[in-house]
Amino acid sequence: MSVIGIDFGNEGCYVAAARSGGIETLANDYSLRATPSFVAFDGKKRIIGVAAKNQQVTNMKNTVGGFKRLLGRKFNDPHVQHELSSIPARVEARQDGSIGIKVNYLHEDQHFSPEQLTAMLFTKLKETSASAMQTQVNDCVIACPVFFTNAERRALLDAASIAGLNVLRLMNETTATALAYGFYKNDLFEEESRNVIFIDFGHSALQASVCVFTKGKLKMLASTWDQIGGRDFDLALAEHFTKEFQERYKINAKTNARANLRLLTEIEKLKKQMSANSTKLPLNIECFLDDIDVTSSMQRSQMEELCAPVLQRVEQTFKRLLAESKLQLDDIHSVEIVGGSTRIPAVKQLIEQVFNKPASTTLNQDEAVSRGAALQCAIMSPAVRVRDFGVTDIQNFAVKVLWDGEGAAGPGEIEIFPQFHASPFSRLLTINRKAPFNVSIVYGQPVPYPDQTIGVWKIKDVKPTERGEGQEVKLKVRINYNGIVLISSATLLEKKELEEAAAAAAADQATAGAAPSVGEEKSGEQQAAGGNKTGEPAADGQQEAYCENEDDNYTSTASSPGGQGWAQRVKGWFSSGTDKKKKTAKSTELPLEVITHGFSPIDLDNYTQQEHKMIGNDQKETERIDAKNALEEFVYDMRNKLQGGPLERFVVENVRSNIVAQLNDLENWLYEDGEDCEREIYTSRLQSLQQQTDPIKARAHDYELCPAVFEELKASV
Ligand code: ATP
Ligand code: MG
Repeated sequence: MSVIGIDFGNEGCYVAAARSGGIETLANDYSLRATPSFVAFDGKKRIIGVAAKNQQVTNMKNTVGGFKRLLGRKFNDPHVQHELSSIPARVEARQDGSIGIKVNYLHEDQHFSPEQLTAMLFTKLKETSASAMQTQVNDCVIACPVFFTNAERRALLDAASIAGLNVLRLMNETTATALAYGFYKNDLFEEESRNVIFIDFGHSALQASVCVFTKGKLKMLASTWDQIGGRDFDLALAEHFTKEFQERYKINAKTNARANLRLLTEIEKLKKQMSANSTKLPLNIECFLDDIDVTSSMQRSQMEELCAPVLQRVEQTFKRLLAESKLQLDDIHSVEIVGGSTRIPAVKQLIEQVFNKPASTTLNQDEAVSRGAALQCAIMSPAVRVRDFGVTDIQNFAVKVLWDGEGAAGPGEIEIFPQFHASPFSRLLTINRKAPFNVSIVYGQPVPYPDQTIGVWKIKDVKPTERGEGQEVKLKVRINYNGIVLISSATLLEKKELEEAAAAAAADQATAGAAPSVGEEKSGEQQAAGGNKTGEPAADGQQEAYCENEDDNYTSTASSPGGQGWAQRVKGWFSSGTDKKKKTAKSTELPLEVITHGFSPIDLDNYTQQEHKMIGNDQKETERIDAKNALEEFVYDMRNKLQGGPLERFVVENVRSNIVAQLNDLENWLYEDGEDCEREIYTSRLQSLQQQTDPIKARAHDYELCPAVFEELKASV
């Protein structure tokens, strides 16, 4: 049984596993810890990870990277159009507007979605884990950017599901990093709490978060981000060199995708060297375009000038974090950095400038996210025993609930979760209704996704009392462990009990009759694998505790199109958890119908089957290649042994020369007609040869055991 944490980066992935001895970052089939986020295709198989990146230049159209930022999006999304400019594969809009990445696979054009490509990468990571751990993967936690919206999170879960991964939590990347930091420093938080800033600057994103640690737990406070990363430095430098080469050599790299890719590859290397070296460094590319060798150079200060706009955005993101978190500089214990691009000296200088502290590298900059995710997985999964550490994440965007309807109460809306609200969390929204109605959940502030809607829920089977009056409908609005907001249940409360409860409440409060109300309930969520060990304040199975919402921030932002201030109305009427009558009140679960992002169960099932088929196909292809290699190896090995080698003396000459002739024929066949055969053909050829050579090997073996008997036998022949 193994539990893993996955850092699915735009450029590369890391997988860490929780073992009894601790957390370990796993190496892949190339003995590397980073698996490039690339998937490629050819006539026979898929090529994923290191091998895919390695063959990118020679198979550009069928090699796809950068799909993390396409998840859950439509083809005509401006963000997608921007991303596609750096993806050389052919990409088309499918009938439903989704993204179809067209590649030639098994000798025919096939379309795959970004979710499917992500699933393929996850399949590879699963295999890496299984072979490193010598056991199947059970549960996993996957890290995702703090700014991922509902659609992107659901798409990531769909991808994991296609790959057969059981996801216990989608965890914000900086939160995973914070856990990797805090888990092992727990004793230091005994005396006093500690505010730490975590900065993750990767290939395509910058994320900055503040976290407060107290003994045994961490709580995220605020996050800021920008969609800039190492690739923006690369692009700025590419722009510079392209211009230079155009002037000096009269060649335009942009006209040739392969040349452009080679330029970017060399620039990335140069950029990394410049992080460690401030002197002038060379950039040379042989046969770049039109057989022309190009050569140039750059030094760090020049790069900083060229990338000034990116660095400015980095600075703004840091400053925004200070403002959003409302922390004073003295409140900050340290600023921890992770992600490849934090190695750029100018970024470290900005950290020092803004936060008045040197950037701290306590954590492994590349592996921290995956290690934190693996720790979270170990804490949550029943498969591994590990000390508990509470993680309270945040909802990074404000969330509003809107409802339609008739009568005094509605239509209306409320900001149910302000930005940076604790997550996971549930709130109870009570609305008085006589008939079915619709509830929409939307983001209450601009998000980096073209559609603000999280989902629309139809609340069905709502009916009036016998006297034709409205009844209370309680909606549980929840941010779950994946940072996904949903209505997890709707309940109709029978009028009779409600009156008793209302009477009790009315003793202290003036009731506003049909007005909606809100209660809150911090709660965990039962995970698919069973057993939640997160130590959340209110754990699973706990009785629902309704309480008045006294959060001013929460009520004051709410408004009702009906005129009267929602905040006032909420305060005028509320549910009370101490009211025993309410708990025994008869309640009926209402059916819900939802339209939200993500694949339908049927599509998900189809994609899962397709993935299985492709896994089977890859396996078959691997076995075929193995069989061919085994035959080839046998030919060379046996010929050496039979021609002046150790087996020569154990076979009569005419048999020996006959076998050698067969081996020679086979060698030629392998390079000609036999180059591309079915596995069975290789294995049957190998077997037929082995039948002839096994007796020879047996005689050699016997001789080794008892040479005297053999010599006697030979003399008598
Ligand atoms: P993201 O987090 O944006 O999804 P990622 O996790 O794949 O992407 P990382 O692996 O953290 O990204 O970082 C990769 C980026 O860091 C690349 O742009 C790479 O060029 C850059 N990088 C790595 N090492 C250095 C270095 N020494 N100096 C400058 N940049 C570096
Ligand atoms: Mg990353």
